[in-house]
Amino acid sequence: MQLEFFGAAGEVTGSCHILRVAGRQLLLDCGMIQGGHDAPARNRLPFPFDPTVIDAVVLSHAHIDHCGRLPLLVKRDYRGPIYTNRACADLVPILLRDSANLAVREAEREQREPLYSLEDVEATLRLLVPIDYDTQKELLPGITVRVRDAGHILGSSSVELTLSEGGDSRGAPGGTTRKLVFSGDLGQYDTPILQDPHRFESADLVLMESTYGNRLHRGREDTERELGGILAQAQRDGGNVIVPAFAIGRSQELLYLLAKHYGEWHLARWKVFLDSPMAIAASRVYWRHPDRFDEETSRLRESFRGMPPLPNLVLSESADDSRAINHVRSGALIIAGSGMANGGRVLHHLKHNLERPECHVVIVGFQAPGTLGRQLVDRVPEVRIHGQRIRCLAQIHTLGGLSAHGDQADLLRWYDSFAGRPPVYLVHGEVDSAEGLARELRARGATATVTRPGLKVDLSTLVPLARDYPST
Ligand SMILES: [Zn+2]
Repeated sequence: MQLEFFGAAGEVTGSCHILRVAGRQLLLDCGMIQGGHDAPARNRLPFPFDPTVIDAVVLSHAHIDHCGRLPLLVKRDYRGPIYTNRACADLVPILLRDSANLAVREAEREQREPLYSLEDVEATLRLLVPIDYDTQKELLPGITVRVRDAGHILGSSSVELTLSEGGDSRGAPGGTTRKLVFSGDLGQYDTPILQDPHRFESADLVLMESTYGNRLHRGREDTERELGGILAQAQRDGGNVIVPAFAIGRSQELLYLLAKHYGEWHLARWKVFLDSPMAIAASRVYWRHPDRFDEETSRLRESFRGMPPLPNLVLSESADDSRAINHVRSGALIIAGSGMANGGRVLHHLKHNLERPECHVVIVGFQAPGTLGRQLVDRVPEVRIHGQRIRCLAQIHTLGGLSAHGDQADLLRWYDSFAGRPPVYLVHGEVDSAEGLARELRARGATATVTRPGLKVDLSTLVPLARDYPST
């Protein structure tokens, strides 16, 4: 009974962990590595396991740093099931098809084979097996899963696994049973649209994200006020506002906030562009799953007609629609991908607006080292976009409070619900963040370990803390 860390160990992206139980092998996530010059080369490396011997995959959510290498796994002959929450299974096709298109275009430019093709993506989608929240399911002999709402993006899960070896899950003599909880990515508490992360009670081992493990976000109300203030300032300055946003999660939350504060923020004076076919498609999936919304959103949704009520919202589907925005000199609020500005349509908008001091750029999500978004956060005086040198004269704002990730207080609140302080392995965080969270966890009496690739944990040696193993 062994857990081995492969990706998102000591960094944020490339989530992938391997579980070996009773002769079976299960993969938790198979994400893309993002940011840094060596990311494309690292994504192409052979997996440290044989994809054909993996029996099943459980996917925590649809972000590309968690699902982005699934088509590569399939290209390398994986043919087993990929279990994920139902809403996540609706979002994954949007992301993976976009990822394949990007890979193919990039390969054409660089005259080499793409990481994977659209055919690989379609083959991957055929392996998806949607599962419901809060329902036990036996995936393989000795491995039972239950996914719980992680409150991070629509369809995001924390994964609860009950693992049995040498007996059965009812605790037959001689057998070993352990419960592992993998947080996936955890949302903030009390955010718009989504519900709070599920409150767990027991586990023998916790595998936990640590993206903002050493930081506190600004409060939700302050953050919304700050965004309103930025829009007011941009209005006075007579420029545009650019928001590099992830197609899934941030874009929908922004639309929701704009609809909610439409009058108060004088948004009738603005034109709001959602410049991303992927975000438009993801928004339609979002509004199709009202069962996952929190109470306030469910109430407001009564007035939605497919999209939040924004009379001046322009959905830019085609490349021509997107190019037309370049002529707008003021009063445009442009939400465009990619979220870390390391590709996509937002690059064109940054190229046209970064050198204008009257324009504003609002960063609303995590920016991995090596990405253009991170350079903006770090206030570099000049960047390169499409080979062109662009001076950064626009005003840059970072709104941590809009992050899809919980901050240190949220992460500790999530952990604190476990009885008996189960040992924690920290993934999905840069080393400083993971170490910061580890210190806080140790102060609470927990054993906390910051993972590195290749680290193995023998689960059968853990002291069993959870007593509520499922009886089926
Ligand atoms: Zn995520």
